Amino acid sequence: MKAFVLKEPGVVGWADVPDPVLTPYGAILKPIAVAPCSSDVHTVFGGGSRKAPNLVLGHECVAKVLEVGELVQDFKPGEIVAVPAITPNWRDRGIQECNFKHASAPFSGHQLGRTQPGVFSERFLIPDADTTLAKIPEGVSLEQALMCVDVVTTGFTGAENANIKFGDTVVVMGIGPIGLMAVAGAKLSGASRILAVGSRPKCVDMAYRFGATEVLSYKNGDIVAQVMERTNGLGADSVIICGGNDEVFAQAIDMVRYGIGTVSNVNYFGGTGNLPFPKFSGGRGMAGKTIHTELACGGRVRIERMLSMVKYGRIEPECLVTHKLSGIDNVEKALYLMKEKPADLIKVMVTLEE
Ligand SMILES: [Zn+2]
Repeated sequence: MKAFVLKEPGVVGWADVPDPVLTPYGAILKPIAVAPCSSDVHTVFGGGSRKAPNLVLGHECVAKVLEVGELVQDFKPGEIVAVPAITPNWRDRGIQECNFKHASAPFSGHQLGRTQPGVFSERFLIPDADTTLAKIPEGVSLEQALMCVDVVTTGFTGAENANIKFGDTVVVMGIGPIGLMAVAGAKLSGASRILAVGSRPKCVDMAYRFGATEVLSYKNGDIVAQVMERTNGLGADSVIICGGNDEVFAQAIDMVRYGIGTVSNVNYFGGTGNLPFPKFSGGRGMAGKTIHTELACGGRVRIERMLSMVKYGRIEPECLVTHKLSGIDNVEKALYLMKEKPADLIKVMVTLEE
């Protein structure tokens, strides 16, 4: 079958790959809508870990169930489901330690397009359908469901780990799709004031729409100074990092409050080496600032919860989909759109014939 693969670092293309083989708890699915994401761009063009040759890419997908294994209870062929980007193996013994994302091995929860063939193909396997696939509630659109599988859950993970209390001032660094959902998550978590950091006009408009009270730009000078000035020198209660290079890590520590501040990171820092920890604003190791680093929450219940947020009108993630293409051949074009980020792009969706 045809699939869009990573041939070698920096080189993508189409390949004929083996058909997925059904497992007793598994399901074979056909993608009907997919989205490439910045992490696919990192996988291909970033200096990440060595990947298997002809690795099938992609982890954001809404799909139709084609076949289910003999032990699957909740899903039947023909159903349209949301496929979480993060798919923990709930039978892994490390799960019993509540280690949902790194049970038994680092990043074991991130399988699709990494240690297991991804979704940019004619068909793919989910090894454990009942614990992984998410039911899409009535009234939730394809675009909305597709945004829930990674973008919404990742942005919300950033907000959840930021220890936000009613009335807090929260900075969100980076207002790509994840940052925009972190803004929405911070608002829903009770932040009174949300300072979003970014400058692309389309993203700035969206940041206000999702709940930012101010949008700050690097173009107007040092971002730490801007935040400190607007918070009377105290800094923010929480800083959520959703984008940027290594220096944003130090900036986040600089601008979060002593004693009670939390830095929550869901950003991917590529390459090797160390992230900078500023000694001065870090209180020389005694600032009382909490740093929380996290991979997105995944699995069935989590994504069904995100879909419930959409169903009951708490979030409108469909407006993140600024570009729509159709046909599996356009997956390549979509990946390059995510890499090159034209001014009006936030997220691109590719629909495939059912
Ligand atoms: Zn993604």
